[in-house]
Amino acid sequence: MQTPGPTSYQRARSVEAAIASLAEHGPGARVVAGGHSLIPMMKLRLASPELLIDINDLDELAYIRREAGLVRIGALTRHVDLLRSELLAELFPVFADAEQVIADPVVRNRGTIGGSLCQADPAEDLSGVCAALKADVVLQGPGGERVVNMSEFHVGPYMTAVQAAEILTEVRLAVRPGAGSAHEKLERRAGDFAIAASSVAVWIEGGTITDAGVALAAVGPVTIDARRAQEHLRGQVPSEALFEEAGRIAAEESMPMPDTRGPEDYKRHLVGVLTKRALRKATARALHQEA
Ligand SMILES: Cc1cc2nc3c(=O)[nH]c(=O)nc-3n(C[C@H](O)[C@H](O)[C@H](O)COP(=O)(O)OP(=O)(O)OC[C@H]3O[C@@H](n4cnc5c(N)ncnc54)[C@H](O)[C@@H]3O)c2cc1C
Repeated sequence: MQTPGPTSYQRARSVEAAIASLAEHGPGARVVAGGHSLIPMMKLRLASPELLIDINDLDELAYIRREAGLVRIGALTRHVDLLRSELLAELFPVFADAEQVIADPVVRNRGTIGGSLCQADPAEDLSGVCAALKADVVLQGPGGERVVNMSEFHVGPYMTAVQAAEILTEVRLAVRPGAGSAHEKLERRAGDFAIAASSVAVWIEGGTITDAGVALAAVGPVTIDARRAQEHLRGQVPSEALFEEAGRIAAEESMPMPDTRGPEDYKRHLVGVLTKRALRKATARALHQEA
């Protein structure tokens, strides 16, 4: 099936109006942002919303700004703007790493960070990036705003903590000293979803890793928050042996399924290699060295 079923369409004039419309129409209504995940799913009849609420006119949701110890990214910020942001390149280069290998310019010109996170595809690169950075997301609903950490955002395959009539409005990243980050992905061909990908963040002070984030894409039913690997890195002095062992642990924590992209043991091997490479690069960036 290559054509969507019948659906009604509305253009939201404000965040509040979009939320009110979601509340009024119930589970048959869906927000559409870039449409690069939802529309293909509608064409395949994997999704058949009765009403599409288009939020593309909500310019107030499209921004990347630094304020009071945080970088705030509006939900409607497009992939291309994440790729080109000088602020993100300076503070969180993991975004540019990932955006260079997400899809193609056509998708990157329209797809949004809010749509990427809310799609909750276990192979979504930005979910790994935001999980590794320990981002918070802001969800706005009829009762006001709440803040959810990425560690609690993905509750199952294609399922998130977003409740009925809620909209993801913002992603928040804490600016902390000694940060370095990197994303490593292997894909079958340019622009494809990952065979496996590893997003890494380290925070280094006085030569010691004070905190670490490791998140894996495409190797489990959800984005994998590799907590044992992070624990292994915390409090340690960076070294090749440490990265090797953290990669080995991350591979253990992954839950890959065999498919057309490769068998389980191959994907697990990739997790180890990609995590080690990402740790090497993130650490070099944290120490202001060339990767
Ligand atoms: C050919 C192709 C290749 C791709 N390759 C990659 C890749 O390599 N790596 C990768 O990570 N991704 C890839 N993608 C996915 C791409 O990144 C999509 O843009 C992204 O997944 C969804 O963003 P969107 O804005 O288009 O969301 P939409 O399709 O508009 O929405 C997706 C879901 O999120 C919901 N939603 C959207 N915005 C909000 C919001 N603010 N609040 C609450 N719910 C919301 C929608 O209701 C829907 O359920 C690819 C897509 C295509 C078509």
